Amino acid sequence: MNNADHAALMAITARPDIVFTHGQGSWLRDSRGGLWLDFIQGWAVNTLGHCPPAIIDALDRQSRQLINPSPAFFNEPSRALAERLCAASCFDQVFFTNSGAEANEGAIKLARKWGRVHRDGAYEIITFVDGFHGRTLATMSASGKPGWDTMFAPQVPGFPKATLNDIASVEALIGPKTVAIMLEPVQGESGVRPATEAFMRELRALCDKHRLLLIADEVQTGVGRIGYLFAHQAYGVEPDIMTLAKGLGGGVPIGALLAREAVCVFEPGEQGGTFNGNPLMTAVGLAVLEQVLTPGFLEAVRANGEHLTGRLKEMSARLGLGETRGSGLLQAIELGRPIAAEVVTHARDTLRIDTDLGSAGLLLNAPRATCLRFMPALNVSKAEIDLMMAGLEQSIQAQA
Ligand SMILES: *Cc1c(COP(=O)(O)O)cnc(C)c1O
Repeated sequence: MNNADHAALMAITARPDIVFTHGQGSWLRDSRGGLWLDFIQGWAVNTLGHCPPAIIDALDRQSRQLINPSPAFFNEPSRALAERLCAASCFDQVFFTNSGAEANEGAIKLARKWGRVHRDGAYEIITFVDGFHGRTLATMSASGKPGWDTMFAPQVPGFPKATLNDIASVEALIGPKTVAIMLEPVQGESGVRPATEAFMRELRALCDKHRLLLIADEVQTGVGRIGYLFAHQAYGVEPDIMTLAKGLGGGVPIGALLAREAVCVFEPGEQGGTFNGNPLMTAVGLAVLEQVLTPGFLEAVRANGEHLTGRLKEMSARLGLGETRGSGLLQAIELGRPIAAEVVTHARDTLRIDTDLGSAGLLLNAPRATCLRFMPALNVSKAEIDLMMAGLEQSIQAQA
């Protein structure tokens, strides 16, 4: 099996010659029987690890009952999931989507509609350098990823960029056309860069002062990833709009746009989508959320997160690497030189660690040339974190 066998797939990213066929918890197997310890987990989506019983049961049960009656009718799982999300947050209503980008598109549309109704047509949404909000044209325009402004020009207008944790840079962009400020509480794709608590509080105050909406893109940070159900809850700051996706489905495609009642200004016909809120995916979302809200679950994420931080800091000091960032189970380490891609390749293709299941490689992610990001299953064990650390150190040491 090699890349030539996949010629029918558009080459949208460089992929290794591995075809994963089975997953269980923190572990993946490929078509040749190889074993990997997975600290990517579908890109921070497999909240409960690979193939968890809760998702298998929800898919089995719901797929025998009702898969999709169309979004023009109510269904029970979407009602139950929306109610559960609202009960656990400061939001009043939910619109379900199929991805994070689609949830953010919805947030942008909702803010623009609110601006038309309440703010005399204001439409500009201040976003951030190095921010990431998705791959549709509007969400690429909202993103501050280097090069994305010209890739599919012309951009969607109306997304001036400020600098994270620099409140003056935000204030300088506020004008009569400004309707909202949108950010990731922890920038994920840029290498796990958290907003400071002071910055989040100042943003909320700025929004209150200028009558702007605060939009939290929690596609990556939401649903327990940083040890709180939602990251903004860790900051003690309540946004007006929040978007979710990745972790909500535990691996299946579902996203959500949540808003406070006063902001829910869509009228019939202004928002929708054929697959949106279908019972199959919302039943899975409900199963995932119930697990994450089980007493002790988030505490365990925080405890394992602290364990990971401690291990990364200790290794960084001992090997003379750079800073560590993040909390819960969304963390990163700076390696001090541009070897992150080589470490990822070594850990995957060359390294073999001894485990109870057999000899295993390690799946890591390098969001930047100098930086590694860790996004394991939220129910990863301490022993699995220690195995990862042992392999990681070997792969770093292998870079002469
Ligand atoms: C992944 C991500 C998105 C995009 O989500 P998709 O489901 O890939 O469209 C948006 N915002 C943030 C913060 C993300 O991490």
